[in-house]
Amino acid sequence: MLTTNPFDDDKLREECGIFGVHGAATASAMVALGLHALQHRGQEAAGITSWDGKEFHTHRAMGHVAGNFDNDEIIRMLSGSVACGHVRYSTTGETALRNVQPLYADLSSGGFAIAHNGNISNALNLRKRLVRDGAIFQSTSDTEVIIHLLAKSRYRTLLDRFIDALKQVEGAYSLICLTPEGLIACRDPLGIRPLVMGRIGDAIIFASETVAFDVVGAEYIRSVEPGELIVVAQDGEIRSHRPFGDTPHPRPCIFEHVYFSRPDSIVDGHSVYQVRKAIGAQLAIEGPVEADLVIPVPDSGVPAAIGFAQQSGTPFELGIIRSHYVGRTFIQPGDKVRHLGVKLKHNANRALIAGKKVVLIDDSIVRGTTSLKIVQMMRDAGAKEVHMRIASPPTRHSCFYGVDTPERGKLLAHKMDVAQMCAFIHADSLSFVSIEGLYKAIGESRRNDGIPQYCDACFTGDYPTTLTDFDDTAQVNQLELLHERVV
Ligand code: SF4
Repeated sequence: MLTTNPFDDDKLREECGIFGVHGAATASAMVALGLHALQHRGQEAAGITSWDGKEFHTHRAMGHVAGNFDNDEIIRMLSGSVACGHVRYSTTGETALRNVQPLYADLSSGGFAIAHNGNISNALNLRKRLVRDGAIFQSTSDTEVIIHLLAKSRYRTLLDRFIDALKQVEGAYSLICLTPEGLIACRDPLGIRPLVMGRIGDAIIFASETVAFDVVGAEYIRSVEPGELIVVAQDGEIRSHRPFGDTPHPRPCIFEHVYFSRPDSIVDGHSVYQVRKAIGAQLAIEGPVEADLVIPVPDSGVPAAIGFAQQSGTPFELGIIRSHYVGRTFIQPGDKVRHLGVKLKHNANRALIAGKKVVLIDDSIVRGTTSLKIVQMMRDAGAKEVHMRIASPPTRHSCFYGVDTPERGKLLAHKMDVAQMCAFIHADSLSFVSIEGLYKAIGESRRNDGIPQYCDACFTGDYPTTLTDFDDTAQVNQLELLHERVV
């Protein structure tokens, strides 16, 4: 009975991580290391495709990178100096090997492999149209529509056909593609999902996060810009294209700063760790509380808790100890087991907590089930008062851009106001950082309400407006309907 992690379903979950290398003798080994550093972005499956100048080679499997790519024979089979890879937790498409990326197709121009982070929000409509026109899909993944659009395009060159395909898709995509002509990396015009570029020796590398560069010893060059398409030709020449013209108002995902990215990554030029500390400090200003201890909900609440403790002058302590051995392969999460699961993963540091007023810091509340259990755990350990502070605004809306969120009706903040949420989790007090406070922590003077600097739709409902399939008034409901049908 396989389940990704029965005790992590009370978090928004980033769906994918991608990594690509051009010009390294050990390209596949480097991709395996890079994917390992991106494992937090998807734990369900992993795949690598390489190009040896004549042929493409692929290995894709369910499970973690370490289990699938620690075998010399597999890495030797993935020969060539160009390779790309993908770690996945399913967004659209069932969990099955046929959906594991990179996806590959033989086109009239030769082989084509694609690794995608994001979600094509008009994939269903495109797929219906393509199937009506005779396309036969091999997977249920939204990514495959790009391959079919590319195959059908009437433009002459591969690059023009690829651009033609991208102009028909909407939503979020950071892509790394292998072709006989070279490696292509691109980001959607709003830059919703991240993609960064680096270098090691003569090799050029692309990855979802800079932490993957650190692991392979590469140097960070810059972010791939929203709407930018970079081709690294087989002779090593690098060309940047702007197929969508100027993209003056990007909307990168603000949740990368809150939770998805690793704290040792740099996102949009900002240290994720420093931003999370700044969010914690802002939270201490906006939601002060008299307490004896500041306790992070591990591990993601740690940097914000440090910021909260430093700003408020309250001692920081590890009052909850996390087991690192709760595996991904476990019994199915029936309600009873799910309940026990929180205790398996987190345990109260009883000697520290008894008789104390504690303030717990977590990154977000999604369904609220984990918060409820953790507050109770503190009370069972003898805490005198339990206050909860959240390092993001209330999550009221679903995400349609490559992040797994429960449908809106299951989000606690959609059903309840803050006072009701506080009562639900049985805390003595509860507060969230404001949306303005979040922008401030990232270094903006304020949120530009007319044209927000980030996608913050899961907090505000203000979805980026590339979704032309949907009329504005009904957009959210239609999107949620679509989401329910595809997830
Ligand atoms: Fe990120 Fe939320 Fe926007 Fe999704 S809706 S891209 S999680 S900010």
